[in-house]
Amino acid sequence: MIRSEKAWPRVVAHADMDALYAAVEQLDDPALRGRPILVGSSSNRGVVLTASYEARPYGVGSAMPMARAKRLCPKALMIPPRFDRYQEISRTIMRVFSDFSPEVETLSLDEAFLDMTGSERLFGDPQSIGRRLKDAVREATHGLTASVGVSATKYVAKVASARRKPDGLAVVPPDQAKAWLAPLPICWLWGAGPKTEVRLHQMGLQTIGDVAAIDPKVLCHETREDRPSFPCSGTGRRSSASPGTAILQEHRIRTHARNGC
Ligand SMILES: [Mg+2]
Repeated sequence: MIRSEKAWPRVVAHADMDALYAAVEQLDDPALRGRPILVGSSSNRGVVLTASYEARPYGVGSAMPMARAKRLCPKALMIPPRFDRYQEISRTIMRVFSDFSPEVETLSLDEAFLDMTGSERLFGDPQSIGRRLKDAVREATHGLTASVGVSATKYVAKVASARRKPDGLAVVPPDQAKAWLAPLPICWLWGAGPKTEVRLHQMGLQTIGDVAAIDPKVLCHETREDRPSFPCSGTGRRSSASPGTAILQEHRIRTHARNGC
């Protein structure tokens, strides 16, 4: 199916590797597969860099003190990080991404936006683009999985990939994006830090749709302590075509959101 430009003015994919550090350790050492592992320093002051998906049901997540993670998940194995190896894998992943699009915006070692607009003749419709991207990553890395979101904006693509982790694919057609975002709890708001999230809850806001419905000026005023650089005067160039849109674009998704709130 060829993209209808009207339905899909742009095609943006967000690809994000699943628990990369832990997944690489499990890839390289089959004895670790299927087991809860915590990548990070085992020192008293160490923190979890990545927890494998087997450890996450115990409430363990990135940036948690290792000592606490071990208490929550005593069976977990602590693995010291091998950054050279992760960077090697990252180069492989980025090469795959560049095979798909000349427009790759790298966000970190293991995630990027790909502008796939106009690539339908090569890769097919958005669903097919996402599937091929996932397959290519898996093949090039000999088994690692990526979650992929595809929509018409970076914001929605990013939330979509996070919502389907691990090994997921979510395609959100542009005309459904607003309705798709609206019921999501605000922990999925891209970049809302813990303070902002608490403040939004205090304001009685539970979902992204609640946030989008608020007057941006009110939102700015109520959350500016957490985001001092946010222009709250209302005299900036930001369009207010859709209430709440501006703040949505400003936010980055919270790490814990990837783990399922
Ligand atoms: Mg990742």
